[in-house]
Amino acid sequence: MVIVLKNDVSENEKKNIKTLLKSKNFKINEVKGDESTILAAVGRLAMDIREVEVLPGVAKVVPISKPYKLASREFKPENTVVEIPNNRGQIIRIGGSRIVSIAGPCAVESREQMLEAAAAVSASGAVMLRGGAYKPRTSPYAFQGLGEEGLKYLKEAGEKYGLPVVTEIVDAEYIPVMESNGVDVYQVGARNMQNFELLKRLGKLGKPVILKRGLCATIQEWLMSAEYLLSSGTDKVILCERGIRTYETATRNTLDLSSIPVLRSLTHLPVIVDPSHAVGVRDKIPPMALAAVAAGADGIIVEVHCHPEQALSDAAQALYPEQFEKIMRDVEALAPVIGKQVAHIRAEEKTEPKSLQGEEKKDSKRVLCAFSGKKGAYAEQAIFNYFEDVAEPVEADSFDEIFQEVVDGKVQYGMIPIENSTAGSVYNNYDNLTRYEDISIVGAVTIRVEHSLLAPKGATLESIKHVYSHPQGLAQCSNFIKKYGYKTVDTVSTATGAELVGEKNDISCAAIANARNAKLYGLNVLRQGIENDPNNYTRFVIIAANHTKNSPKLLGEQKPNRATLMFSTKNEAGALYDTLGVFKNAKLSMNRLESRPIAGKPWKYWFYSDVVIPSDVKNPVKYIDDFINVLKSNAEDIRLLGVYYE
Ligand code: PEP
Ligand code: MN
Repeated sequence: MVIVLKNDVSENEKKNIKTLLKSKNFKINEVKGDESTILAAVGRLAMDIREVEVLPGVAKVVPISKPYKLASREFKPENTVVEIPNNRGQIIRIGGSRIVSIAGPCAVESREQMLEAAAAVSASGAVMLRGGAYKPRTSPYAFQGLGEEGLKYLKEAGEKYGLPVVTEIVDAEYIPVMESNGVDVYQVGARNMQNFELLKRLGKLGKPVILKRGLCATIQEWLMSAEYLLSSGTDKVILCERGIRTYETATRNTLDLSSIPVLRSLTHLPVIVDPSHAVGVRDKIPPMALAAVAAGADGIIVEVHCHPEQALSDAAQALYPEQFEKIMRDVEALAPVIGKQVAHIRAEEKTEPKSLQGEEKKDSKRVLCAFSGKKGAYAEQAIFNYFEDVAEPVEADSFDEIFQEVVDGKVQYGMIPIENSTAGSVYNNYDNLTRYEDISIVGAVTIRVEHSLLAPKGATLESIKHVYSHPQGLAQCSNFIKKYGYKTVDTVSTATGAELVGEKNDISCAAIANARNAKLYGLNVLRQGIENDPNNYTRFVIIAANHTKNSPKLLGEQKPNRATLMFSTKNEAGALYDTLGVFKNAKLSMNRLESRPIAGKPWKYWFYSDVVIPSDVKNPVKYIDDFINVLKSNAEDIRLLGVYYE
């Protein structure tokens, strides 16, 4: 059972609760959460739980019905995020809003092979490097791995590219050698999922563990193995679906993707998918990797080899680097559809100013990012997606206020919507970018806007008469509203509408907003995904004051690949045509060209342009600077708004 303690519980009260539980033979784990502290009491429930409920300091008692306790969602309702630091002061998080990709060969074969593989997979966007040094092979005559030598090659290659390393442990006797060679994540292979002695030893070690699903294991057996790790003392467990044995022989195993949504409801632990061992056939792996991400996996782990034909193990399933590159590009495109971002490693090692290093620490929460609206707004979602928990969202009343707060240094960043795929540009913000000359764009993020109908308890689609939302939200759901004949009421933001409907608590009123608002304002989600067009995206840019030179480094884990600039042209024939020729010569493909009237100069216009910087450019900032110098001979006024990664 789980005992949720009152916020003001005293040490003495806590001691009394623990004493009673111990006397009933429970093993106790104390977990301090953000909002409350809980005691997990594991053991056979042979007492009336009311005995615990009445103790001073106890807020509530939740019995856990599952055989696995610490792994269950009942025990911990919020998702676990496993944090893995790299050697560049960055933390890779598995289980948050970012999709992580782990890649590398099946086995470490040589130093050259690992260095080459690490270069290839990191260039495509892998955030961790895999490679087996101890290989559990079906045949004792097959290559068994290089052992300690392999661990050294793996670590060296990982460190060179800022990639933490993942490798399989086949026996507890290898813990010391793996520890001394800097293994970051211990993989428990499918064949060892029920090696309980190994699990107990690893649990005690406290290092992150990837626990693969056994060849013939049920989900419950798998979670019982996770329970061994958790009950031995670690909380850093990542589950990995890698396919199970069925009667099918066309693929090596059968990838059970349905385990992902099942696990989501049963456990708080992150889930990644290994399509390589599941499918076993190179060409069939990319679609399954994408399917895993679409099904909600927190990441993928795949085998990549620069010369698969020479691979000493699992050659048939080793992806060519180009195939991995394609998977990563597709995952980037898929991520916003499911409300996520893709994790990246910083391009190169940087020594950050002292103040910034602190900003990356999870608990300090000193980085503030302003957004327009209230808690639950789409812009707040964009902040979570972009910064994860590095930045704290701060409400602002208007876009202008965000710009002002950033300039004044009250917040470091602002999250500004710039364009919606159905409603078009947010002109107000283009104009703000013109007016605030000391603001730069330091990043961009696109999120999918999925609207839901939120109503008080007891309301039905039929009882509702009025729907409240921002005019954009109402317009984007006009078909649904028309179908049910609802009357509409405008509110200043979608979240304000949800708050209002929550306060009214009237079954004839509902709000149209992001489903996250339901929890915030005590409403139920009556219908999810009611927008006319499910391809509804909003692109946000992240702004910072340009006197804080270091801002992009905090966010920009990758080499910049976009630039935004504004320019005006001379008033003569062909002026815009000539200007665009400069873009062409610099091989800058334009994602966007937008014109806005220049205040105080009738019939003169600013042109805003987003450009894609070619990937082979070594120094994007210098490249854009040089380009602007050439542009000056054609354009009149030019302002660079930012060079950033998107
Ligand atoms: C591996 O990842 O190299 C491996 C052996 O996987 P599994 O344990 O899933 O077969
Ligand atoms: Mn393998």
